[in-house]
Amino acid sequence: MEEIAQLESTLLARIDELETPRDILKAPEIKQLYAKIPTLDPAQRGVFGQKINGLKQALERVVAEKESQIEESASVPLDVTAPLHINSKLPKLLSAEQGTVHPLRQEIAKLIEIFGRMGFVAEESRELDDQYHMFESLNFPAGHPARDEYDTFMTVQKDTNEEAFVAPAHTSTMQNRILKKYKENLDKDEPIAAVVPDRTFRNEDLDARHEHTFYQIEGVYVAKNVHAGMLIATLQKFLEEYYGKKLEVRVNPFYFPFTEPSFEFALSCPFCEGTNPSCKVCGGEGWIELLGCGMIHPRVLQMAGIDPSVYTGFAFGCGIDRLVMMKYAIEDVRHFESAKLDFLKQF
Ligand SMILES: [Zn+2]
Repeated sequence: MEEIAQLESTLLARIDELETPRDILKAPEIKQLYAKIPTLDPAQRGVFGQKINGLKQALERVVAEKESQIEESASVPLDVTAPLHINSKLPKLLSAEQGTVHPLRQEIAKLIEIFGRMGFVAEESRELDDQYHMFESLNFPAGHPARDEYDTFMTVQKDTNEEAFVAPAHTSTMQNRILKKYKENLDKDEPIAAVVPDRTFRNEDLDARHEHTFYQIEGVYVAKNVHAGMLIATLQKFLEEYYGKKLEVRVNPFYFPFTEPSFEFALSCPFCEGTNPSCKVCGGEGWIELLGCGMIHPRVLQMAGIDPSVYTGFAFGCGIDRLVMMKYAIEDVRHFESAKLDFLKQF
């Protein structure tokens, strides 16, 4: 009898360790008790049997209670955004490790902050757009050869008369919308000044420097008497703030349909400052061709309803992954989308 009482407390304590509480009723100790019945004095057998049944009933009550608790907690929706300590179910499912903001998102917040201090508002891009915004509004008429240079992902339309949508290959896809949205600023003698840091997509062959999904920051500035010197000064100031040091910049003529004149913008290597012939960031050249920019083409302004004889502006588009890779000497762009915790935990 004493043995049965002791076993009851042992088994009750064991229930909490089981994933399925009901398994406690199959505990080998209970079988062993039943096996003892034939060895007992016949007068004791009845009482002993009743005691075992009593034990089973006590266990059954606790099991039923546990089962209803489990059922109840399963019906409460799991809020994966709740802090770990608030959600009582999470610690069982996950190790108590908190995530962090992705390194590119952390850096984008810094870019927005720097441009914010320079008077630029931040806008979001989109992950699917029409061809008007991706091309036409940027002075790439249909059939323009420069359209092919982007290796754009496009949707497949069921109806061949419908135009395919594109996954934006550059954040310039937002330029026409920004010009229209902030056009009223010009009437108040205030500039249009916006940046768009967001995702872009190209059908690239992947290697250490190319990803199909990457980030760009677009900048647009329009007012009266805007000139190329203001463009170069803005970019230089931005890059010096981001890298926290004085930098040399260099511009070379280039071609884009949506800017005239267009430039390729290079900066002195922020990593070695041109002093290391075997620098992995600049390849020992001391200069890095970083981004494309230029004065907004008059036709692009016209398409947004802005008079190019009164207003001028500049635009630039810069790869964010590249900026961040140079800052931290990250050797492979694919790390960003790899979900490798060893990499992500460093930030
Ligand atoms: Zn270098």
